[in-house]
Amino acid sequence: MLKVYNTLSRKKEEFKAIKEGEVSMYSCGPTVYNYAHIGNLRTYVFMDLLRRVLSYDGYSINGVMNITDVGHLTNDADEGEDKMDKTAKATGKTPAEIADYYTSVFMEDLAKINVETPEIVAKATDHIDDMLEYVTRLVQEGFAYEISDGIYFDISKFPKYGQLSRLNLDEQIAGARVVINTEKRNPQDFAVWKKADRSHIQQWQSPWGMGYPGWHIECSAMSQKYLGETFDIHTGGVDHIPVHHENELAQNEALTKAKVVDYWMHGEFMLVNNGKMSKSLDNAYTVSQLQELGYSPLVFRYFCLNAHYRKKLNFTFEGLDAAKVSYERLCGLLSSHSRGLALVNPVDLAAYKADFERAVNDDVNIPMALGTLWKMVKEPLCSDVYALALQMDKIFGLSLDKADEYMQSIKEEVPLNIASLADARLQAKAEKNWSEADRIRCEIVELGYNLLDTKEGYEIKKI
Ligand code: AMP
Ligand code: ZN
Repeated sequence: MLKVYNTLSRKKEEFKAIKEGEVSMYSCGPTVYNYAHIGNLRTYVFMDLLRRVLSYDGYSINGVMNITDVGHLTNDADEGEDKMDKTAKATGKTPAEIADYYTSVFMEDLAKINVETPEIVAKATDHIDDMLEYVTRLVQEGFAYEISDGIYFDISKFPKYGQLSRLNLDEQIAGARVVINTEKRNPQDFAVWKKADRSHIQQWQSPWGMGYPGWHIECSAMSQKYLGETFDIHTGGVDHIPVHHENELAQNEALTKAKVVDYWMHGEFMLVNNGKMSKSLDNAYTVSQLQELGYSPLVFRYFCLNAHYRKKLNFTFEGLDAAKVSYERLCGLLSSHSRGLALVNPVDLAAYKADFERAVNDDVNIPMALGTLWKMVKEPLCSDVYALALQMDKIFGLSLDKADEYMQSIKEEVPLNIASLADARLQAKAEKNWSEADRIRCEIVELGYNLLDTKEGYEIKKI
C-alpha cells in the first residue's frame, strides 16, 4: 500500500487513485529564461521517483508538465518584469528563441539524469486561448475583476483561500511580498491576466485589450485541459506552496466548486553550503558544469537519492565526491555480482525485496530503499543479487544495468601517462625486476594515483 505525504492535510495518507490503476499527475515545469540549475533538477528527480514508484506499483501514468514561457514575473507575486520579456530585451533575441533554447537544454538535462519525460509537455504560449477562456469564466462568475493593469482574482470570493499554505493573510502579505496596489480589492488578490504596454514583447488580443496571462492561470488552464476537473497528484517545489499553488488551487476550486487535486506533493529545496542557490552568488550549478568538473550526471542523481524528498539537501563538492565514490563502489560490486554464479545456498532475497518495497511505498523513502540495496550487494557474489538490483533500479533510475560500462568509462579517465607507467610496471614485474616495479609504483603514487594488483593485471584509482 502506497502512502504519500499530502501538503494539503499535512499528513501521510493512503494513496487512492480516482480511476483504478491510473494516475493523473501535473508537475510545474521550469520557466525557460535561463538554464535549470541543480536545485531545479532536484525537484524533477523527485517527480521522477514518484512516477517510478507509481509505475512499479502497477499504475499507468498520465503525467503533464508545463513549460512556462510567458507570465512568470521576477517576483513570484505580481511584481517586477516578466522573466522572458526581460531576458529577450537584454539579449536581443525573441522570447520564442530563448524559450526553445532553454527548453531543449532542460530536456537534455532531464535525459542525462534519467528523469523520464512526462507523457505531455505543454508550453504556456500554445494555450493562450484556454487561458483566456478560463479568465473569462472567472470574470463572468464574479471571481475576477478588471483594474487598470489587468484582471485580478478576488480572494474574498473564495473563503478557503490560504488552505494550502495555512498562512494567515498577514503572513502571506509579508512572505510573498504582496504588492500593495491601491486598486486591488484585497492585498493578496493576484493577476490572472496582465494588460501589456507597447514595450512588452509577448502580448495577445483579449476582451480587455492586448495582454498576457498571469503565471498561475497557466497551470490551472493546462491541468484542467489535459487531466480534467479532478486529478490525483500535483507536484512542485516547496516555494510554490504559498503563492503559485495557493492561487492555482483558488482559481480551480472557485470554478469547479470541487476538490480539484487529491494529493499536493512538494519537494524540499537544495541548498548550497547551507545557503541559497542563486545565479548572483555564482553557485547555481548546472549538470553540464558538474560534467565539466568530472562528475557524471548519474553521480548527481545518486547524490539526490541520498536525501528524502521532504528534507533539505545541502549541496557541497565534498558531498558530491562522496556520492561519486559510493556510486562507483555500487557499480563495481554490481558488475562483480553480474558475473557471480547462482549460489548453492541462495541468499534470502525475498526479505530484501520486501524491505525495498516497504521503503518506496512509505512516502517514496528512497534513502531507506538505497540502504536495503547496499545491504544486499554486500552478500556473496551471486547473479540473483544482480537481477534483483536491476528490478530495484526501475525506481532508482541509476542505470545499474550499465554498471560494467560505467566502470569501464571511469577506467578510461586515467591519464595516458599514468596508464603507460602502470604498463611499464607490469612489464618490470614480468621481468622480475622488483626494484624497478616498486620505483614505478612510487612514481604513480606521487602523481596522485593508487595502483592495486588484480588478477587481470592492475586497477588504478585516483587518490
Ligand atoms: P522555476 O523555473 O523557477 O519555475 O522552477 C522550477 C522548479 O524548481 C520549481 O518546481 C521550483 O519549485 C523548483 N526549485 C527552484 N529552486 C529550487 C531549489 N533550490 N531546490 C529545489 N527545487 C527548486
Ligand atoms: Zn505551475
